[in-house]
Amino acid sequence: MSACTSCGACCASFRVDFAIYELQSMGGTVPDGLAVDVNGSTCRMRGTDHVPIRCAALTGTVGQQVACGIYEWRSSPCREFQEGDYACNKARARHGLPTLDGSVF
Ligand code: SF4
Ligand code: SF4
Repeated sequence: MSACTSCGACCASFRVDFAIYELQSMGGTVPDGLAVDVNGSTCRMRGTDHVPIRCAALTGTVGQQVACGIYEWRSSPCREFQEGDYACNKARARHGLPTLDGSVF
């Protein structure tokens, strides 16, 4: 079973940037209200634009039980993020969770 439903660390560690064409208003899927403009061609998930980072779409408690409130409509960087890779483990370590491959940061 995926570690993600009891984690969420990546959604509370990194800026989540994507092209404005992924916004619903531009024919994409991401609800506009959950994103902030970066430079007119790129936008960022609300909540990942300041520290402490936590995506506004994330529900629950990191490290315990979480869900993405827009899972079916999430942006491409969210879809491409790989459980178990370097960035995943780095995010988990940042939140005091054990890495999935035993790596130490
Ligand atoms: S940090 Fe890794 S394990 Fe945690 S939710 Fe993200 S992809 Fe899943
Ligand atoms: S949109 Fe969902 S998957 Fe993407 S960072 Fe936010 S909570 Fe995580």
